[in-house]
Amino acid sequence: MEASWTVPSLNDNLVVHFVPDRDHSYLKVRWPQANINPRAGGHTYTGDQPLSGSEVYQTRQGDRFPYVSYAATVFHEALHNLYPFQTVDFIHKLDGGGEAAGLAAPEYSFRSKMTDHNKELMRRGFSVKNPQYI
Ligand SMILES: [Zn+2]
Repeated sequence: MEASWTVPSLNDNLVVHFVPDRDHSYLKVRWPQANINPRAGGHTYTGDQPLSGSEVYQTRQGDRFPYVSYAATVFHEALHNLYPFQTVDFIHKLDGGGEAAGLAAPEYSFRSKMTDHNKELMRRGFSVKNPQYI
């Protein structure tokens, strides 16, 4: 896998937009109906299946994240993004939810474990390309 900070292209398998905060949502430009939790560190919109759009916030309710939390958030949003035909709970309640869900759980931190199931889902998600909101 290759990852880069660049201008997104139609060939990208996953595009994650970094925006200042929820009030500056890039997703809401296209999908004003997107319902973004005020406490979220990022959001993925899949209501336009198979098109997926993901963004990560630099600050949440005025607080800046530790950088390592960005990685956890990108991973979490990628799971949503790569499964546009699945429900939110398909990710959040993985393996029963909570700690067992690892980085798929709705409440995670940089202390959360990346489970083998998380890795397997990521591999499977990347094996089928879905269009990205660029
Ligand atoms: Zn989520």
